[in-house]
Amino acid sequence: MPNAALKILLMSAEVVPFAKTGGLADVAGALPKALRADGHDVRVAMPRYGRIDRARFDLSVALPPYPVPMDDHDIEAGLLQTHLPDHDDIPVYMVDNQHYYERDGIYMYEDDADRFIFFCRATLEGIKRLGWQPDVIHCHDWHTAIVPNWLKTIYKHDPFYARTACVYTIHNLAYQGIFGYRVLEVAGVDEYGFIAHPDMPHLNDVVDFMGRGIYYADIINTVSETYADEILQPDFGEGLDPLLRDRRDRLYGVLNGIDAELNDPAADQYIAAHYTAENLAGKAECKLDLQREAGLPQSRSTPVIGAISRLADQKGFDLIDQIAEPLLLHNDVQLIVLGTGDQRYHDRLNEIRARFPQQIATFLTFKAQLAQKIYAGSDMFLMPSRFEPCGLGQMIALRYGSIPIVRATGGLADTVRNFDPTSGEGNGFAFHPYHSMALYTTIVRALENYRYRHTWQQLMLRAMHADHSWASSARRYVDLYRRAIATRSDRPPREAYQKNAS
Ligand code: ADP
Repeated sequence: MPNAALKILLMSAEVVPFAKTGGLADVAGALPKALRADGHDVRVAMPRYGRIDRARFDLSVALPPYPVPMDDHDIEAGLLQTHLPDHDDIPVYMVDNQHYYERDGIYMYEDDADRFIFFCRATLEGIKRLGWQPDVIHCHDWHTAIVPNWLKTIYKHDPFYARTACVYTIHNLAYQGIFGYRVLEVAGVDEYGFIAHPDMPHLNDVVDFMGRGIYYADIINTVSETYADEILQPDFGEGLDPLLRDRRDRLYGVLNGIDAELNDPAADQYIAAHYTAENLAGKAECKLDLQREAGLPQSRSTPVIGAISRLADQKGFDLIDQIAEPLLLHNDVQLIVLGTGDQRYHDRLNEIRARFPQQIATFLTFKAQLAQKIYAGSDMFLMPSRFEPCGLGQMIALRYGSIPIVRATGGLADTVRNFDPTSGEGNGFAFHPYHSMALYTTIVRALENYRYRHTWQQLMLRAMHADHSWASSARRYVDLYRRAIATRSDRPPREAYQKNAS
């Protein structure tokens, strides 16, 4: 039955609007809606972090407390239930446990391995109690990578999961979830040992969740075609490229979409005025509103460059750091940065702000509503990433007519085409070498083109008309689900890679 509706369980550590630190949450909140629109029965599972308000999200009890095996004993889990906002046909299950999740943040705790093993195990046990048998489990990033491992080991003889296939999505290879031997015991897979790949001796005595997901999943994908190619090379493979090369016949690239409902300049509830490609008047109002909120002089003609990002090396902030002062000194331009991350970038941005208070505004925090105002009110959007699995910021910016200035890598290369003034082709400004001069000259090129109103308007229209909605990417995921179901096997790909701990 090639077109039958599928039962899909999507497992993620973060899901919009319940918990978010980055693009993973956006994907986990938006992909299910597109799958549902395509007729599939899709359900989502995540931990119930302490800050997820029970009343606000209308959480109800899905199951009475039940035991979850952890190491050599059981720990009790609760399973709560709600649904995606405005989509009561997409259930969201939340694993509840005070000890593991009643904390201020989402990650960066010493017992993160236990916290996510517990989430995964409680989800599999809970779904089984509910009697809802998924055809495929779609896991995301290291937090859920133990699931494909289990499906081929401790759950392989469990009739409930005997036919369940697993797709594993790599959102960012830089975060692998590396822990010591003990977590194999916690997860109940110590008898299967470490992954011992001949070309990756560094895995011989650590538990690398990301590596295990790649090793055990039926199908693996990452979030753009270019990144799927890049990670086969040592430069981008973060030490896992030999394993990825072994599994390349099962490795795909599927570009993320953006949530077209939440990111719509014609309906966005957080912006000062609505606009469309056909009537751009509202965008000028959004710009003035943003300049006011940022405490910068209100000027229609001064180009505003926005940046919304984790403040991390990956995102190219070392390059921004090097060019910010000359850029502001020599050009009539305003820079508005929203982000949190490495302290040294916080410090540097504060320094630059102190020197150029009329030209740069910095919001060193995480604020979803302000992000929308920046997408809407800026003329350009800066994203010079060192590497970028997909990147959502540039796609959201395109939709809001904020022209991206990017480094052509990973998903940025797949979504932003460099503007060529002779042919009029392209939707942004892109450069290749990871070098501050390349970034600087690209920004100057954008500022030059900004002066030509007609050219710029054409660029904006092209940007806004591009379709980055989830519909086509969701269909590609359905193809991967069907491929995983058709080709699933009980066995890991190469048992020779397994090494018992001594
Ligand atoms: P990442 O590598 O962080 O996942 P993406 O570009 O894929 O990068 O996704 C980042 C998402 O998080 C975008 O939706 C962006 O608007 C949002 N975001 C990043 N930093 C902030 C912030 N400080 N405040 C609000 N939203 C943010």
